[in-house]
Amino acid sequence: MIVMKAGATDTEIQNVVEEIHKYGLAADVSRGEFRTVIGLVGDERKAPFSHFALLPGVKEAMMIDTPYKLISKEYGKLSDSGNEFRPVKVGNITVGGDELVYIAGPCAIESKQQLFKIAEGVKRAGAHILRGGVFKPRSSVHSFQGLGGNGMEEAEEALSWLREAGDMYEMPVITEVRGETQVDLTARYVDIMQIGSRNMYDQDLASAIGRKQKPVLFKRHFGAGIEEFLSFAEYIAAEGNKDIIMCERGIIPVGKGKNFTRYTFDLAAIPVIQKETFLPVLADPSHATGRRDLIFSMSCAAVAAGASGLMIESHYDPKEALVDGSQMITPDELKEVIDACNRVHAIMSPVKR
Ligand code: PEP
Ligand code: MN
Repeated sequence: MIVMKAGATDTEIQNVVEEIHKYGLAADVSRGEFRTVIGLVGDERKAPFSHFALLPGVKEAMMIDTPYKLISKEYGKLSDSGNEFRPVKVGNITVGGDELVYIAGPCAIESKQQLFKIAEGVKRAGAHILRGGVFKPRSSVHSFQGLGGNGMEEAEEALSWLREAGDMYEMPVITEVRGETQVDLTARYVDIMQIGSRNMYDQDLASAIGRKQKPVLFKRHFGAGIEEFLSFAEYIAAEGNKDIIMCERGIIPVGKGKNFTRYTFDLAAIPVIQKETFLPVLADPSHATGRRDLIFSMSCAAVAAGASGLMIESHYDPKEALVDGSQMITPDELKEVIDACNRVHAIMSPVKR
């Protein structure tokens, strides 16, 4: 990491970047209000820090040999105007700002009529962002794969409905991108690209999505430690894209016998991740529990734990849903969750995150 002097000129900054490139490394230039910080991307052991420290305009040059630094709290404090938190702006919605943000919608888009009816319902309930899966990650090749499973033409049609529903009900839209071949198409239609739990370890997918320079919702793998989760988010940041929203969605339960929940909701991960990074942290109680009767309490708990918002699956008739019906709540129930969470947030917000 290279910290520039307060009055460093553009030419001096550019000169440092060129020096970094000479050693086969990339540079992440973060211009704060008072100071510019340049992060080295790549194997820093190749870099001669004593040489960098002598370049004009440089205040300090030091090696930071950690798996994630571009998204770390320290880096954020040094650059980006010294802010501890860096909200992600999506249209006129701010994720990680003063207000909680709710992402809601069906697990999978099944038809235009289904999507529009749900969009109307979740908007009325107070949701800010509309979700809907097109490329569904499924455990069996024999189950419904989302409309994306029927080929790229149907995928594009479903994505165009998502865009239309979002525009109609004034909500930015999000969908999961499951593989690199889906990146270009999806980026043309949505405001946030989601990397699902099963793909958290796919560094090529993270890089390809990062390069689109659009906000990314990054979900924790159900078997990943927190350091791994942060380290793989760094692949997105290394593409110069810090518009990353982290999402806790449950980890694999332990022991034998019935566990009663789909995953174990790792609530403590929320404040822990928030202490490590300036990125906003969201929680998904739907996939974490797999149970609609737990959504209310677990949503309140996630907000009390410091989540900047929630992702909740919603459907006007959960029994009818082709995927994840057991964890869906109706728009009316969503409204109750949102009202309660906003009250919890009001109590918690004076408490330091
Ligand atoms: C989803 O949000 O649609 C999803 C499949 O979640 P996860 O990747 O957390 O399982
Ligand atoms: Mn789902």
